[in-house]
Order: sequence, then structure tokens, then C-alpha cells
Amino acid sequence: MRFSIVAKKDDYSHEVEEKVKRRLISEGWQYDKKYPELVICVGGDGTLLYAVHQYLHLLDDVMFLGIHTGTLGFFTDYTADELDICLHDILTQQFKIFSSRLLEIQLDQGKEVKYALNEMRVENIVKSQHMDIYVDGEFFETCHGSGICLSTQAGSTAYNRSLGGAVIDSGISLMQLAEITPIQHSKQRSLGNPYIMMENRIITMKSDTFDTAYLCYDHLSMALDNTSEILCKMSNKCVRFARYRDYSYLARLKNLY
Ligand code: NAP
Repeated sequence: MRFSIVAKKDDYSHEVEEKVKRRLISEGWQYDKKYPELVICVGGDGTLLYAVHQYLHLLDDVMFLGIHTGTLGFFTDYTADELDICLHDILTQQFKIFSSRLLEIQLDQGKEVKYALNEMRVENIVKSQHMDIYVDGEFFETCHGSGICLSTQAGSTAYNRSLGGAVIDSGISLMQLAEITPIQHSKQRSLGNPYIMMENRIITMKSDTFDTAYLCYDHLSMALDNTSEILCKMSNKCVRFARYRDYSYLARLKNLY
């Protein structure tokens, strides 16, 4: 099997990376950074996000496996303390594939397209941001505040959770829209609650100006100067996780707090 490793930039993660690399090569696996079949991520959920974006162009051919060098995460199935078990499983066990769909974000009618596993956010920390939100082309509401967060099921435990959004059970594909510090008064009202919607919805955000706002997607970001319209929908692109053992969503969730 061809594999590569993406590791967090700290000494311990690097040490684990070297151990995994040596062992798999000694078992006849081929280290191939360019065209791996399995990408092993050593670090945390953040490292896995980073790896997904490194291999976006190969998502149909690549599977991911996470080893956490801290506590257990949502995208990681083993801790570094379980490295021997992990290597044993990789070398001897059959894996199951677990897929997670990405969000697709189109700026100004596809002029630029970005993808996110956790969420996309439009954030403005410089001044309050006005934007009109449309759902399937129908006007929904005007948001006025620091921005909005549109999260996937996978991202429901990340930024979305800090906004008071609901944690969504594994296996449900949907999008969740939450406002970031909305301004609410007699002249300006928006839903205020997180809105969980079907996966086939299309969300459009329009504003006279997004200047000084940022599009944040997973760990990445870009300035939205000169952008007037942002369209989001679930993409057909999926991240495929190789699951070598059962590790329940509930166990992952209980580990979070
Ligand atoms: P990061 O340092 O890579 O991640 C920030 C924290 O979010 C880390 O503790 C990370 O876990 C955790 N995380 C990432 N994805 C998660 C998920 N699906 N479920 C539960 N926890 C998750 O930060 P970054 O590079 O700025 O952004 C990466 C992601 O972090 C973003 O997509 C965003 O969702 C999240 N984030 C959250 C907040 C917040 O809640 N206020 C603020 C900034 C970013 P590990 O320690 O395992 O890597």
C-alpha cells in the first residue's frame, strides 16, 4: 500500500511520524507523498483538516486515518499511546470506509471555489457586517453582526458548538447556519437560533460590501474584498476515513468535555 504521513509540527508528533514510517516501510509499504492511498495524520483534528486540504485534488483515491498526539478527537481513531495497536490494526485488519461530505463555497458565481470539511464562516471583526441570506433562492433574513457560520455535521462539534449550535449525530448529512454575535433590536431582527437544514439546500449570502470581511473555511481564510455574493451547498466531494476499529461517535463526544 502507498502511504504518506502529515504530522503536526511538534517534536512528539514528529517522533510518532518517524515510528509509523519506519514500521510500515519495514512491512513492505511504499512511502509516496504525491500519490498515497492512505494518508496518516499525526497530531489532532486540526492536522487532519490540514491534510484534507493538501490532498483535495486526490480525494477520490485517498483515505485518511488520524492518530492523536493529545487526547482523542473526532477525526482521529487512535491516540499515540495506542500506536502499537494502531499499527497492528493497519497491518492486519480490514478497514471500513466512513465518508464525510465537504461544503462547497462559490464566490461571485464560481469565480473562485473553496471546500470545507468543518465549516465556512463569513466574519468581520473590523465593522458590523450586513448580509442578506437566501435559501434556495428565496429571501430568508438579513443578518447584521460579526458574521455567520455554516457548518457540516462533522463541523458541528467545532466552531459551531462554540456558537451554541447543536451537535449533530454522525451519519446525518445536513448544514447548520448560525449567526456570530448578531445585533438584535426593534429595527433589526433575525432568527437568532441555529437553523439546521436539509443537505440539498443552497445558501446564498449577498451584501453591498464584504470589504474588511473574511471567508474562513476550516483552518484557511481569505479576504472578501470586491466580493458581492457567496453561494454554499454540499459538494459531491467526500473525505473518506479508513476505520480499522469501532470507535463510537458517543465515545468521541464524551471525550470532548
Ligand atoms: P486549530 O487549532 O487547528 O483547531 C482549534 C480547535 O478545534 C482544536 O482544539 C481542534 O482539535 C478543534 N477541532 C477542529 N475540528 C474539530 C471538530 N470537527 N470537532 C471538534 N473539535 C475540532 O484551529 P484553526 O486552524 O484555527 O481552525 C481549525 C478548526 O478549528 C476550524 O474549522 C474551527 O471549527 C475550529 N475553531 C474553533 C474555534 C472555536 O470553537 N471558538 C475557534 C477557532 C477555530 P485538535 O486539538 O484535535 O486539533
